[in-house]
Amino acid sequence: MAVPKSKITRSRRNNRRSHDALVAGNPNECPNCGELKRPHHVCGACGHYDDREVVAQADDIDLDDDAA
Ligand SMILES: [Zn+2]
Repeated sequence: MAVPKSKITRSRRNNRRSHDALVAGNPNECPNCGELKRPHHVCGACGHYDDREVVAQADDIDLDDDAA
């Protein structure tokens, strides 16, 4: 096992960790449904992107539509 050559002081350790914090996302409002969504991503709530529906929602699909 590798052994540290010298002690890392609290100061040096904490200085290293000063960049470790997670930053919050930057959500935008969906222009279609108003739900918060990630920028440049399809809306998870309504499946719209750039004012078009690009992902059909499960409750919009009629399974009996083309049955015999
Ligand atoms: Zn939406």
